Amino acid sequence: MNKFEVKAFGTAAIDADLKPMNIERREVTAKDIEIEILYCGVCHSDLHTARNDWGGTIYPAVPGHEIVGKVVKVGSEVTKLKVGDYAGVGCLVDSCRECNSCKHDLEQYCLNGFTGTYNGQEKYLGNQTFGGYSEKIVVDEHFVLKVPANLNMAAVAPLLCAGITTWSPLRHWKVGKDSKVAVVGLGGLGHMAIKLAKGLGAHVALFSRTPGKTKDALELGADEVIISTDDAHMNSVRGKYDLIIDTVPYVHDLNPYINTLSVSGTLVVVGYLGGLEPLLNTVPMILGRKSVAGSVIGGIAETQEMLNFCGENNIVSEIEVINIQDINIAYERMLKSDVRYRFVIDMNSLK
Ligand code: NAP
Ligand code: ZN
Repeated sequence: MNKFEVKAFGTAAIDADLKPMNIERREVTAKDIEIEILYCGVCHSDLHTARNDWGGTIYPAVPGHEIVGKVVKVGSEVTKLKVGDYAGVGCLVDSCRECNSCKHDLEQYCLNGFTGTYNGQEKYLGNQTFGGYSEKIVVDEHFVLKVPANLNMAAVAPLLCAGITTWSPLRHWKVGKDSKVAVVGLGGLGHMAIKLAKGLGAHVALFSRTPGKTKDALELGADEVIISTDDAHMNSVRGKYDLIIDTVPYVHDLNPYINTLSVSGTLVVVGYLGGLEPLLNTVPMILGRKSVAGSVIGGIAETQEMLNFCGENNIVSEIEVINIQDINIAYERMLKSDVRYRFVIDMNSLK
């Protein structure tokens, strides 16, 4: 398999800063698209992976799965895009394409395990996959998205993860004009959840620990903001929401949010991965037929649907553009919830 070197930014160990490095990409095969990366969003999952929060990180690790760029080369059988087109790549770059999930456009639930854009297994080269903090990426056309050309490309990048991760539960639980949706945590995912739920016509609430974000949340389209550390405020919205999307990245108490679900309502966890503390009390769930669910990103068709919806409704992320050399500072700020509301790396800074 022919390959070539590109510049990237990654980390060599759990406690090391990210720094410049060279990585290898495969030469395009018949179905591949080579993309020159213009922008890459900075997801909290990048930080979890760089610091091995979930275990299993293979070093060196090059994060980045909110990728927007331009097509610079296509394989002989590619039909989706041509050289010069804008292209997007999200969290998956491959899956088995044969299992029941893959056959139903649910590649994110591939029964044989999807290939992550980073820290997955590069099927051709054998090593780990490297993400979008790099000059170029080569991806099978099935996993490349068409990007609406009317949108600001830097602000589109976060749609590829933060956008689809919140869009997928909104669609699965059939959110529309009569729905009441609440979002927990106003970060990258949270602010996209507000915009997309609002775009679908729902009443939208934000639960936040940070009173200083109230004005922003209302400007982003929230109808109300509830300070989650204020018990009286939380009690005032008991039984209200049909769907809660919880984006908090670390262990936290879900019980106060369950109380704010309507009968048959669902709290879907998209943020924290792991065991819950304190324990989940089943009493309000049983007495109100309430559910706690999880959801991971979205399939390729659903991601395209979300991008088209954003193109038609002029929805993009609120971003702070940074140079790649500032990524370590950006991670520290993200840990302090000091992001309004997504860092996006201008990949020109890598040159
Ligand atoms: P982010 O930008 O850092 O936002 C997280 C928000 O959660 C913060 O802004 C803060 O909002 C709140 N928060 C942070 N720490 C908290 C704590 N200890 N307790 C309570 N609230 C806290 O992160 P993100 O990029 O949106 O990602 C959120 C999580 O989703 C990450 O764990 C990420 O790995 C995960 N993720 C999952 C998927 C999926 O497919 N399921 C996809 C992408 C990302 P307030 O200040 O408003 O409280
Ligand atoms: Zn992500």
